[in-house]
Amino acid sequence: MQQGIVRITGKNAVFMDSSLVVSAAYSYHCTKSERYYSRSFLFSSCESIVASPPPSPPSSPLDDSCSGSRKRKRKKKKKKRLYTPNEKESFAECRHQEVRGDILEAYEAFQATAIPRVKSHAVALRQILPANTTTIVCQEQEQEQEVDFVELGKLWQAPLYEITFSQSSERSSGQGLRSFTLFNTVIENAIKEEVVAECAGCRFLLPCLCQFLISDINQVHQLVPEPSCEGFNLLVIDPPWENKSVHRRALYPTLPNRSLLSLPVKQLAHADGALVALWITNREKLRQFAEKELFPAWGITPAAVWYWLKVKEDGVMVSPLDLAHHKPYECLLLGYLPCQPPLGTDNKDVHGGTADLKHEKPPDKFVIISVPGDHSRKPPLGPLLSGFLPGPKKVKGIELFARELTAGWTSWGNEPLRFQHLPYFRRK
Ligand code: SAM
Repeated sequence: MQQGIVRITGKNAVFMDSSLVVSAAYSYHCTKSERYYSRSFLFSSCESIVASPPPSPPSSPLDDSCSGSRKRKRKKKKKKRLYTPNEKESFAECRHQEVRGDILEAYEAFQATAIPRVKSHAVALRQILPANTTTIVCQEQEQEQEVDFVELGKLWQAPLYEITFSQSSERSSGQGLRSFTLFNTVIENAIKEEVVAECAGCRFLLPCLCQFLISDINQVHQLVPEPSCEGFNLLVIDPPWENKSVHRRALYPTLPNRSLLSLPVKQLAHADGALVALWITNREKLRQFAEKELFPAWGITPAAVWYWLKVKEDGVMVSPLDLAHHKPYECLLLGYLPCQPPLGTDNKDVHGGTADLKHEKPPDKFVIISVPGDHSRKPPLGPLLSGFLPGPKKVKGIELFARELTAGWTSWGNEPLRFQHLPYFRRK
């Protein structure tokens, strides 16, 4: 638990305290749990999700919504009860039935074995949070303005913004101030300690040996390594899938599926191959797009599907497992990019295909149990995936569409400094 991960004995599952895992990568700072985790999962407000009835099925196109008569209304109700799921919904239900047993087993084992440790952790969280925490956190947030990088990047002045490393390191301060153009530039913290940097009037913590690029998708090619033996052996991708809830809550801009086809995934991969992890929502349409179009277009061979089961601080699922349109889990599709033949060869048997992938493969239906981070922040995957890499054993990771930086990794997106604001951290 000190490292933030508990293996659930006898099951393909772990409980992860994401805040602790992230903290482990910093020498002098750790994340503030009360800022890391979504308050809705730390306090009782999520009871409402659990208690709410399943949403009514979508209305049939035959329904006459203009009619006001009681008779018609009664008829409508009857029709709704007779509602039969469409092909995609039936598919999604079959997938759910296939995996629900494994998720439930992992959850029950977690409840039986790991929960006392999680509970003591939850008690620790409560001690950090005084009774009027909400007010305190809000006040703190008001005092510390946060930079909205998506909006800033749209301004005509965007090319003029700079980021300044205000502190070269905790111990040595002799390097002076260094500034870089903020947008469309690959920026690096090349030292083995976190540094503080400043831009747009706010301070950010940059973990050791990290690299990042704040840009739109049309600039991501800047990260393609030359030569490819310097490429990445672990790629984590969390696309801004088009999603009604994201639109409604204006969380971040989304992208149409077809724009993802042009991501240079193959070009980013290490010459010896790479493990790719793609986050996906529970929409069957997206799952089919990812499996039938995206993975083939990127040249990925599917390897396993993992599940992220979201629990509240007391270890209870955030919503019932079988709720029709609100599953308490999300999927992570895992696959491999094969090693690339050296220039001038096209001998697939020697250099291509999957014959070269002699390394441990990720188990299927692995379950990661954790409390969701604020703003649907995903759990950090590096420690869980590092044992399944092809080629060099040392992780060379890249996160695409990142909202945070990871020590030793490259992060790209239009807001990869989002969760690096200094007020998200405290001194160790
Ligand atoms: N993995 C992240 C986390 O756990 O916090 C969440 C990523 S979120 C699903 C998708 C991200 O992609 C958002 O930060 C969004 O602003 C960003 N994004 C949307 N459109 C983009 C674009 N055209 N270019 C770069 N990033 C984009």
